[in-house]
Order: sequence, then structure tokens, then C-alpha cells
Amino acid sequence: MTMQDRARFANALIYRSRAVEHLAFGVSSTPRATQLPVPIVIDHATGIRLTDTDGNRYIDYALGYGPLILGHTPAPVMDAIKAELARGLRTASVHEGEAELAELIAGSVPCAEISAFVSTGSEAAHLALRVARATTGRVKVIKFRANYHGWFDSLNIAGTMRSDGPSALGQDPAASTSVTVVDWGNAAAVEAVLDSSFAAVIVEPAAINAGCFAPPPGYLEQLRAMTEKLGVLLIFDEVITGYRLALGGAQERYGITPDLCVLGKALGAGLPIGAVSGSRTAMAPLANGRLVHRGTFNGNPLSVAASIACVNLLRAECASLYPRMERQASELREHLNAESARTGAALYAQQVGACLQIFGGVREMARMNDLVKVDPDKTLAFTAELLRAGIFTLPRGLMYLSAVHNDAEIAETKAAISIAMDRFVQTPSAS
Ligand code: PLP
Repeated sequence: MTMQDRARFANALIYRSRAVEHLAFGVSSTPRATQLPVPIVIDHATGIRLTDTDGNRYIDYALGYGPLILGHTPAPVMDAIKAELARGLRTASVHEGEAELAELIAGSVPCAEISAFVSTGSEAAHLALRVARATTGRVKVIKFRANYHGWFDSLNIAGTMRSDGPSALGQDPAASTSVTVVDWGNAAAVEAVLDSSFAAVIVEPAAINAGCFAPPPGYLEQLRAMTEKLGVLLIFDEVITGYRLALGGAQERYGITPDLCVLGKALGAGLPIGAVSGSRTAMAPLANGRLVHRGTFNGNPLSVAASIACVNLLRAECASLYPRMERQASELREHLNAESARTGAALYAQQVGACLQIFGGVREMARMNDLVKVDPDKTLAFTAELLRAGIFTLPRGLMYLSAVHNDAEIAETKAAISIAMDRFVQTPSAS
């Protein structure tokens, strides 16, 4: 770490040494500790601007790892939360908001006739598999390499192109024995293993976690046709793409309706919520109460109030919002790639809708298998330069646009990218 960094991030460094004393790894989710030059500590946020405890200001493209699609202080959401607080916390009570939110989801997400709520995307993916198994009376599931569906043992496998096994230390390998891992984007690979003994195929319809890959033409259609023919449920994990690629998520954008979908992140505008939504047939075991669905915090009033305000706002603005976020992401992608060409940096950006991924160590990404050529250390080194230039991204190079990034902030971001790129190519890690 340079002397300049030590001065610029002095309070973050002091906090880090305090935090590791009693807080595991000094963070509450391990990836947050990967940020270079040091995990910054956010003091407050307004709109799309963050201020850290050292007084540094940033334009935020991490959006809380996705949820903050309306930014940090969306008035209708903040007002809804305040109004809800005034009614008392009412945790684990039956309340009118639950049905209202389920109605809003039914009105905006194509597959969603019935919804069930949980508190996180991981829980929702876990519940979706349970529903699929209960509905079909089968156990086996297909998941795709480098797709992510949360940290629970059965699905937290094959997180990268390099490994098919458990992604975390301490996972029970037996928990995923009913899960078959297949390459994403290749319908023939699914056809080779899929038969009527499978309960479900779970897929990120656009592979955002792998690095913002759009589905190849015809791919989702083929998955839909194959699963339907065999009575296998098709589950879209829309924890990232839901309410982000379109109001109705990837299923609306690509025109393919799954049996079930998993929602989270943007649905809650920053408060914790997850949902499994699907057709009446696919959701029958939950809808008729035979599948016992538990959880103290499921559908908690504060999260539900935030979600209702969020979906209403997205619905009101969707005609202009989604095209604008996509245009802004395209502008940033084009600028990143033009600046890589200008400076000779080994960096490449690709994008799906409002999601943008920067890869270090490569100059193109023809197919998903090329992920093995990516150098994660170079990605981290570049996002560190972005941070120094006032741009906050996920350390692994993922960026999200929001409803509140304006074009002046996009211009400011482009200028910061140019500065970061010039600095990046001067560091030994760049080549
Ligand atoms: N599914 C997808 C596609 C995700 O990206 C994530 C989180 O990043 C999850 C599931 C898990 O969600 P959560 O972190 O809320 O448990």
C-alpha cells in the first residue's frame, strides 16, 4: 500500500484493525474484505453518492451488491419504511402488505401467479428446489457451472469454470449429490443428461455472476422446450435480473416464461427480502399448505413495505427507466473498451442491460470458457484504481446502473475511468 493510500484511507485502516479483533474476518460477508486497497467504511449515502469515514466521496455502482436499484435514499421507499415503523415492528405477524406485494409481483412478473416470501436470495433458491421436488415427486436437479444461487450447501457448487465441487470450506459434499453440473449456454449439454428423473433445471437466465453473459440466441427457448416435454420444472434465478433487466426480469426481456422464479435484491430496494414465484401448478404444494414453509422473518412488514414502494415506482417509470439504464451501461462499456485499446491495458468489459462486468487480464471474451483466462488479481487492481478515482464497484468488477444515475454522473464516471486506466497501466500488475 502506498503512502498516499495510507493517508487517504487512514480511518478505514484503523477500523479494519479494530474490526478483525471480534468480527469474523472484519466483515459480515467475505467478498467485502476483498476490496483493494482496503475495504472502505461507508459513513453515509445520498442518492447514488457514498461518503466514507475518511470523507472520500464515490459514485456508487455496487448498489449494495445489487438491491439499491433506486439508490440509497429513494423518497417513496424511505417514506414507506417510516410509515411502517410508526405502526410498530410487528415481526412475524400476518399483515395486509404481504398479499399486496404478492399481487404486485403477479402483475409484473410473467410466471408469478403465486408467491412465497423469505428474507434472502439464498433462502429463496433453496425453497425453489424444495417446491420443485414436492411438485414433481423427483429429486435430481441440474445447475450450471459459474452460475450462483446463494451459499447453501446443495447449490453452492461449481462456482467457477475451474471447479465442480463445493465452493466453500466446510460444506457437506453429500448435500449436492442430487445436483448435476452442466456448462451454461449450451443446450446440447443439457439434452445429453436431462431425462424425466429430474425435478428441475435452475439457471441464471442471463449469467450475471459469471460475468454478464447474455443467453445465446434460442438457448432459453430450448431449455423451456426440453423441460416442458419431460415434466421437469424450469427455474429462473432472477435474484439479480428480476426487476433489473426489465420490470418482469429476464423472463420478460427474453420472452420465455419459467415454471418458477427466484427473486431477491432489487425487489427489496435495499431491505432484506427474497421470493419464490411461479405458476399455480408449480407452486401447488406451497399454495395448499402441504409443503410446510417456515421462517420467523418471512414477509416482515418493513421489507414488504419497501418492496411495495419499490415495485410501484419501477412500474410507474419502467418505460423510460430500463432503456436509460441500458444506454448508460452501454456508454460505460464502450468507454472502458475504448480506453483499454488506447492505453493497451489488458481489460475487457461486457454488459447485459443495466449490468456491466470488467475482466482483468484479457482483451476479449468470446465465450464463457474464456473465463479461465481472466486474472482476478488484475481485476481487483483495476477496481482499486477506480476506487481511488471515486468510482465504487464490486471488487470483482461487476457494476450496476440504477434509476438515479444521471448523465452528468456517467460523464464524470467516464473521466474517472480514463484516470484509473492511465494509472493502471503504470502499475506492474497491468500487463
Ligand atoms: N442468486 C443469485 C443469482 C445471486 O446473485 C445471489 C446473490 O448474489 C443469490 C442467489 C443469493 O442471494 P443472497 O445473497 O440474498 O442470499
